[in-house]
Amino acid sequence: MCKPIGLLTLQGDYQKHQQAFADLGRETFGVRRPGELESVSCLVIPGGESTTLTRLVDRVGLREPVREFACDHPVLGTCAGLIMLANRLEDERKGHFGVEPLGLLDCTVLRNGYGRQIDSFTAPVGLESLDGSHEPFPAVFIRAPRITRTGPEVEIIAEYEGEPVAVRRGTLLGLTFHPELTNDLRIHKAFLEMVDRV
Ligand code: GLN
Repeated sequence: MCKPIGLLTLQGDYQKHQQAFADLGRETFGVRRPGELESVSCLVIPGGESTTLTRLVDRVGLREPVREFACDHPVLGTCAGLIMLANRLEDERKGHFGVEPLGLLDCTVLRNGYGRQIDSFTAPVGLESLDGSHEPFPAVFIRAPRITRTGPEVEIIAEYEGEPVAVRRGTLLGLTFHPELTNDLRIHKAFLEMVDRV
């Protein structure tokens, strides 16, 4: 019996991910402390606030355990979750507010790169390189980060206005948008395929 999908349930909109996986017939398990990583097949780091995520990850001692887990388990990071996966933050006018990414994906991100909450938007993005589908995906960007640099080993999976919005290296998948906020389950499905292949 394969292990459930791990969801980092420290902060953010993890319940929507739980629902998306449930709709695909898959069980999730909330991860809040290091030992719980042993019970899961992969980890989803949801959107929320990377400042709070940083603080909580360090408070419960998950930083090194998640970094080790990611060496041989798939990890999906969405929005703030992608910020946590990145290895560098772009300089911001106001500083980084204590955000300390995990440094797993070789890319640089600019937090709130499209502006404030009021500047949130939905846009169609192509997913051909993820699942071969030709139907655009309705990507919801909420105070989304921008990926301003990707390392040579990082594959760009989807772009919006010529910039990467979905990137992958091995079994690490990072998205600047929120796939759990639409009824389109293609990204969760593609991630499950990555998990089942490991
Ligand atoms: N702007 C948030 C951050 O910097 C991310 C927003 C989100 O996850 N929707 O952490």
